[in-house]
Amino acid sequence: MMRRPLRTVSAFVAATLLLGCGHTPTGRHQLQFFPADQVAKMGQTAFVQMKQQTPIAQGDATSRYVACVAQSITAVVPKPQGGGKWDITVFKDDQVNAFALPGGGIGVYTGLLKAARTPDQLAAVIGHEIGHVQASHANARLSTQYATEAGLSLIQSLAGKNPEESRNIMAFLGMGAQVGILLPFSRADESEADLLGVQYMAQAGYDPREAIALWQNMQQIGGARPPTWLSTHPSSEQRIANLRAQLPQALKLYQPSRKPGCAPVR
Ligand SMILES: [Zn+2]
Repeated sequence: MMRRPLRTVSAFVAATLLLGCGHTPTGRHQLQFFPADQVAKMGQTAFVQMKQQTPIAQGDATSRYVACVAQSITAVVPKPQGGGKWDITVFKDDQVNAFALPGGGIGVYTGLLKAARTPDQLAAVIGHEIGHVQASHANARLSTQYATEAGLSLIQSLAGKNPEESRNIMAFLGMGAQVGILLPFSRADESEADLLGVQYMAQAGYDPREAIALWQNMQQIGGARPPTWLSTHPSSEQRIANLRAQLPQALKLYQPSRKPGCAPVR
């Protein structure tokens, strides 16, 4: 890559800091250089590609169950940041994984049900992934990359000219595991997605205490080959401790009577 003169870079970063900042739903200040609707469109394009390339479960008990849980959560969260609508797709794949993209695509792999064993635990994963979208974490990652490194090539890849770079874009959007690029979110992003996730699941009538059980399941089935979801989500005792600290607040939002009664698949 060509090195730009330091002065130009500094001016660029300064302009970015002035023009391209935003606040997340929890009030964090972060870089958001790209227009939200542009990032949403990129996410939607990536999701369409994903659906063309991976077998989809439709009309069976598993996909009805996952859709039931996911829809009860999307019913209580705002529309996706940047536009679009929530679109839940179940992929037939054994990997323990799920993701949500800017623009509203939510992908759940059938293998996830090995770790998310109850509707509440599945709600915890989906709530967490939606949290990443609503806090514009993909935009922040792209913006940081743009401001620090990839400048010109990133602009080219936004136009879809370079297949290698469009894999990178997908990784930044949150599909790292899908395109084979391990790109975990930062700890701060993870904590924020956890916080938003337990709020969403509780509002939808799912027991937020089950978010902790979910993490414990993930760690348990880890073994020699950790679940894909864990490999892009730093796991720690600290994280479970943070979730515990958030429980009193989340339990205030939790109204068990609103639970929609999605029956898990046995
Ligand atoms: Zn996450």
